[in-house]
Amino acid sequence: MKKLILSSALLLMGLWAGAQNIKLCGTDATPLDDSIYVAKVAEFNADTTTPPVMVTHYIPVQYHIVRRSDGTGGAVADAIDDLLAQLSDQLDTVGFNFFRCEDPNYIDADDYFAGVQQGSTMETDIVTDHARTGVLNIFFVPSLLDDNGTDTICGFARFPWQGGNYIFIHNDCAADGSTLLHQVGHYFGLYHTHHTSSRIEAEHVTRSEADTCFNCLTAGDLLCDTEADPGLSALNVDAMCNYLGISKDTCNLSSPPQILDFTPDVTNVMSLAPANCRKTLTAGQLDRMLDFYFDSRLMQLDPMGCTNSPCYDDVVLPIGMDTTITAVKTIRASGSITSIEVIDVSTPPGVTYKAGGFVCLNPGFETVKGSIFQAFIEGCTNLLPDDEPDFLVIPKEKPGLVIAPNPVSAELTFWFKLPREGRARIQVLSSTGQVIQVLADGLYQEGLHSINWNAASLRSGMYFVTLQHNGQLTVQKMVKLE
Ligand SMILES: [Zn+2]
Repeated sequence: MKKLILSSALLLMGLWAGAQNIKLCGTDATPLDDSIYVAKVAEFNADTTTPPVMVTHYIPVQYHIVRRSDGTGGAVADAIDDLLAQLSDQLDTVGFNFFRCEDPNYIDADDYFAGVQQGSTMETDIVTDHARTGVLNIFFVPSLLDDNGTDTICGFARFPWQGGNYIFIHNDCAADGSTLLHQVGHYFGLYHTHHTSSRIEAEHVTRSEADTCFNCLTAGDLLCDTEADPGLSALNVDAMCNYLGISKDTCNLSSPPQILDFTPDVTNVMSLAPANCRKTLTAGQLDRMLDFYFDSRLMQLDPMGCTNSPCYDDVVLPIGMDTTITAVKTIRASGSITSIEVIDVSTPPGVTYKAGGFVCLNPGFETVKGSIFQAFIEGCTNLLPDDEPDFLVIPKEKPGLVIAPNPVSAELTFWFKLPREGRARIQVLSSTGQVIQVLADGLYQEGLHSINWNAASLRSGMYFVTLQHNGQLTVQKMVKLE
């Protein structure tokens, strides 16, 4: 049996030496990277809060396609679109949605076409000249050279703390099903499952904290739901994705003493198994990607700065939430925000708001029970008129009325809040004060209410919506679009 394994390994080694189709990952971590990584993971582990709402995290991507000087050769943009869609599927569970920011940027240069060497001035030059801010830049090149000038590298990425907002992908590896995801994993802070270095030791097989050599929280990739795989590579995995390695874990469990087999997961995307075997990311890896997204990448990505910017889903905090938010978590939001409850926007802790960018709930920010926030992307659903403040803050003791979206083309919701039980009457008036529609007229409990309506039959223009309650009149402007 042992002989058989050895001959298989030799066969693979032969393939390795002769063929150019097995390529390597060029992303590597230095001891300095490791110290940052260890500190970041400790920070993440100490933070037990979760983002207040689950939203889609849009990741704008700019393709840079290297071709010959005459414009021939290079990756095909349509095929890359398919890859991005696949990537979005693969990371759908954490809400990552990758989209093409602009038309592809073609870099027609024979020098680059001949091969870009990782870590060379050529890498620096191409990034300096072409990388766009606010997006994940992916450079597709026909040849990626290692330190020896040999075309052996499938791709490489920059870790979140390294400052680079880019990935290089070898055209031959772009569509292998896992290289792109693997490098995106690095881009969002994932380490190789086998990771060891001068600062981070090798993981033991054991996954029980009771075992004396339990170390998966401090060794390897610092994740306990990825198996220890100190020797896993394309050299010891067969064509059917069976692991052929025979090295043993030297961890000796006390009673009875034993030596454990390594059983690395060849399907893990962040392993160095052959590309066709790698298909899975663990829950721990996905969590870590999200942590690095919120920690670093979110601020470097501007999905709204693209020609192909998406319309965001509405971001709505749960009605009735009465908890205090204790950590900085950023909700990617939109061009305008309205609140129907008292919120302090003037001094921290409060709400900071950046048009078209973020809604950020700072530590200590509290929502009053019944608060509701709605956020819409500029140019998509809800543009407040220019003369309105972006924040509509309604004093707690007064009735409140919010129209969303506004301007409106068809369906909309009127949110109204009553400080006490009583009669409420809501009407839509023309710009000259003529009653067009009575939306509500009756007895309502104290608190927040909503009425859905369809304004499709209204002519375009300006309207007023009034809320009458216990002798108080609240008026909002409403704009109907074509
Ligand atoms: Zn890698």
